[in-house]
Amino acid sequence: MVKASVLEDVGRLEVRDFPKPEVEENAILMRMEMCGVCGTDIHLYGGKMRIPFPVIPGHEFVGSIEALGDGARGMEVKGRELAEGDLISVVPGTNAFCGTCYFCRFMPHKPTLCGNRRVMGVNMSCRDPPHLWGGWAEYVYVDAEHWWVYKAPDGMPTEVAVLAEPMAVSTRAFERAFAPGLPTFGDGYGLGGSVVVQGVGPIGLLVVATANIAGAGNIIALDMVDDRLEMAEKLGADHIVDMRMFDSTEKRVVEVERLTQGLGADVVVECAGVPAAVPEGISMTRRGGKFVEVGHYTDPGNVEVNPHIICMKDMDILGSWAYPPTQFETAIQTLRMGMGTLPLADIITHRFKVAEAEKAIQTVKSRKGIKMAIVN
Ligand SMILES: [Zn+2]
Ligand SMILES: [Zn+2]
Repeated sequence: MVKASVLEDVGRLEVRDFPKPEVEENAILMRMEMCGVCGTDIHLYGGKMRIPFPVIPGHEFVGSIEALGDGARGMEVKGRELAEGDLISVVPGTNAFCGTCYFCRFMPHKPTLCGNRRVMGVNMSCRDPPHLWGGWAEYVYVDAEHWWVYKAPDGMPTEVAVLAEPMAVSTRAFERAFAPGLPTFGDGYGLGGSVVVQGVGPIGLLVVATANIAGAGNIIALDMVDDRLEMAEKLGADHIVDMRMFDSTEKRVVEVERLTQGLGADVVVECAGVPAAVPEGISMTRRGGKFVEVGHYTDPGNVEVNPHIICMKDMDILGSWAYPPTQFETAIQTLRMGMGTLPLADIITHRFKVAEAEKAIQTVKSRKGIKMAIVN
């Protein structure tokens, strides 16, 4: 039998046993090694997203191949042969888009705009066999035909490989500020650029690491939690702004201006998910700069924004909604580049067994540590 933590309904997580499934021709049975706990999981638990209960949460999983169908051997997305024992990560969003909506037809390069997307650990019910469609379980069933499977690079530890999914979110958000060919004109991110990261939870921390690896010259991280600020420095933040010391928007904006020769930052990435951070981040962006919004994956409400500032700054405001499956390659390569020099593995601060998922959720809510993970 396979143990799984199942979200039966809003706020009701139960440990259940499922039969270990036989793998079909194009499928993989993955032994879950580690699965990150994400803000999205907390939102699912809290009823902030409509999902088809019961669901096994967990969309940030890595694991080793326990069994695979003959067809799946050749289905690694980069064409590498798969075999039993390989460490793999899986893009949780399907590659089988609906194909009929406006976005699938006219914007195939932005597949996350399709409203009919199936995401493992989010909107796939575990009611019917093979049941194991989420990461908070001892085994995960991977349909390699309809989901992209990546083999982890040689020597990449599980603690780093497990960051592929949040790193896909972070690198995608940061790359929104790229403007091909334009950095010369100061439009968009360029080498040596200045980057403000608002909120250095796991996504913000990975944006700091990404900016560092991408050659930013001045990275400024804002938060009010010691562990996070310390980790931001270790991952490459040149300056930290402790929001307990700079306790008003005005003070923080002045501090960012002081750290950017009075200009404001080339790029500001909002990772806090707090409405008030948005006008503040817009104020921290230099004229002609870019503000990227990635923190508000759910809806915590409204905020007042002064449109004159946006107009006067001639700036860009960009949203980043998840990432296309191709982003996993960027994420894995960026993690690989940072592996030797940055303490990426230390982002995972707490580990819980599959049956302790409830405890993991409560630990996130108590704002202890940085990132929680479910382990087998
Ligand atoms: Zn996530
Ligand atoms: Zn579609």
